Amino acid sequence: MKNQLISCLMLIATLVANVGLAQPSPSLVCADKDIKCARKALKNHAAGRNDTWRAALSLPIAERIGPAPASLVEFIVLDNIANEYPDRPTAATMDENLVADVKAALAELPPKLRDIFDRRLVGLYFVNGLGGTGYTDYVYDKNRNPVAAFIIFDAAVLAQKTANEWATWKENTPFKPDPVYRLQARIENDSNDNRKNAIQYILLHELGHVFSVGKRIHPPWNIEPKDVDQQAVYPFFNVSWKPDRAQNRYTTNFEEVLPQRRNTVYYFGAKLAAYDMLPTYQNLVQTNFPSLYAATHPGDDFAESFASYVHVVMMKRPWEIEISFGQEVVFTLGPCWGESRCAKKQVVLERLLYDAGAF
Ligand SMILES: [Zn+2]
Repeated sequence: MKNQLISCLMLIATLVANVGLAQPSPSLVCADKDIKCARKALKNHAAGRNDTWRAALSLPIAERIGPAPASLVEFIVLDNIANEYPDRPTAATMDENLVADVKAALAELPPKLRDIFDRRLVGLYFVNGLGGTGYTDYVYDKNRNPVAAFIIFDAAVLAQKTANEWATWKENTPFKPDPVYRLQARIENDSNDNRKNAIQYILLHELGHVFSVGKRIHPPWNIEPKDVDQQAVYPFFNVSWKPDRAQNRYTTNFEEVLPQRRNTVYYFGAKLAAYDMLPTYQNLVQTNFPSLYAATHPGDDFAESFASYVHVVMMKRPWEIEISFGQEVVFTLGPCWGESRCAKKQVVLERLLYDAGAF
């Protein structure tokens, strides 16, 4: 889910050869700012076709990790041109320690949950200069139905932070910096507060997007809100969201309860003032969003719900947001699972996980 979530390692060249996409970097098929050409080239691009990834899918998931193959780098660059993003990513040179952390993060997930992704995740691929932490996008069958997905990460961004540093950084991005108001996020105990666990939480969010592929969870992200099928039922989406077809955007059942939602922008420049932290979070607990990021888009609502449910309920890890004013803690938010505010969403989520064989 790129547009909403540009938030949303290496092995060696032999691995890339194994996945069948190793080739010299091709010269780009479009001029650097030719949006029309880029849009055309993206349609039915090899990176978005399931048959391109057949060799990758035959490998164990832990071996579908590496620098982005040339075809995928071209796809991302074209996508950035098409969306007028300035970044022009390149394939990453992988750090072995980072690869080891990604593999360990994946290996520690509950096995039944990990198995769900065996046929749905074509790989975890790394670039430099992505313009965000990572994102997930669809891979289609020959009838243009989404059937799988790839996850792209920026190797340099992923290499930097421990779990609590990363979560604190991310959750501060919607708010302008201020010396008095402070927001701290805690997703690991001190003894587990390391980079591997930051990667694991980031990975869980992206796996939430992969989980949704081809399922009636929320409208697919390649469809505009104005084009969402009037008859379609999306049990997860319908708990919180509705398409505003006239405005071609998604809206929620909580627009009056959480008016700050419209100005909640992660990563790309804060729109909310630091003094908005407390009222925003006080309002958030009147909704059924598990995190503030979940309130930004239906796809991210599901990805955040999936990540926090697996992390907190299935893996018994902490999740807490703490807001301080000076030295005084003025607000604390815990996980929404088990809380009445998220009960309906939890039922839908647990049903989806159960049906997929996660338990
Ligand atoms: Zn996301």
